[in-house]
Amino acid sequence: MDIFCKIISGEIPAYKLYEDDIVLAFLDINPQTNGHTLIIPKKHFLDIDDIDNETLKKITETARYIKKLISSKLDCDGITFVQNNGECEEVKHYHLHVIPHYKEKQELLDVIDVYNKLKDENLKEK
Ligand code: AMP
Repeated sequence: MDIFCKIISGEIPAYKLYEDDIVLAFLDINPQTNGHTLIIPKKHFLDIDDIDNETLKKITETARYIKKLISSKLDCDGITFVQNNGECEEVKHYHLHVIPHYKEKQELLDVIDVYNKLKDENLKEK
């Protein structure tokens, strides 16, 4: 079982920002910048060739929500989406990276501190 399937099953903890029946969004444990988030489908798909269009649509809707959440809670200047395949994909479970960009170089905070800034009372409502 890959590490993201273990997060979905609850075997491994994660700093969850959004969850429904289809997708899960959580903070990357080794962030490139503060607020670096991953969005994954709950069903196991390997990569862009494997995932179905309906699930991809759900991922995109969630990406919009996470972009809005990060933009409103962190003082970032832009947001990049990245999705790796083949040799570039370390964890073999489809995931979309949401990576905030800051004009000024930021000190990397502990993930829990970023989580505390981002956590939203209305997480279930997009
Ligand atoms: P990729 O190279 O696209 O496969 O990236 C995999 C990402 O998963 C990396 O940015 C890792 O830091 C991240 N990652 C690996 N394990 C965990 C975990 N247990 N919780 C959160 N993020 C993780």
